[in-house]
Amino acid sequence: MSELEHDWNAPGPKKRSWDKGGKTRHQQGYGSAWVKLRKQILERDCHLCQPCRAKGRVTVGNQVDHIRPKAQGGTDSPDNLQTICDPCHQDKTARDNGRRVKRAIGLDGWPTEGN
Ligand SMILES: [Zn+2]
Repeated sequence: MSELEHDWNAPGPKKRSWDKGGKTRHQQGYGSAWVKLRKQILERDCHLCQPCRAKGRVTVGNQVDHIRPKAQGGTDSPDNLQTICDPCHQDKTARDNGRRVKRAIGLDGWPTEGN
């Protein structure tokens, strides 16, 4: 019976997508100016996730996010930066990516995929 006793809930060696194997921000192409700016934004926002705050939740955020993605013309100006928590960041990144995906419309006028 031991073959059937696999523990499906055991945590696997799952790596987070943002874990670049111990490389620093500097090695990823972010200069010390960004490190300084990032600290400034975190302090400005009291280390609280701004999207959560907008929803009435108080969550500590430790990431700095571009409100308007740089790919969409956003800048590194403090006006365009906000403190964000991991779940919000992943959610936002997914939505930012999703926005660029054009949905195929079938002949009947309805999207051919998704639900
Ligand atoms: Zn959040």
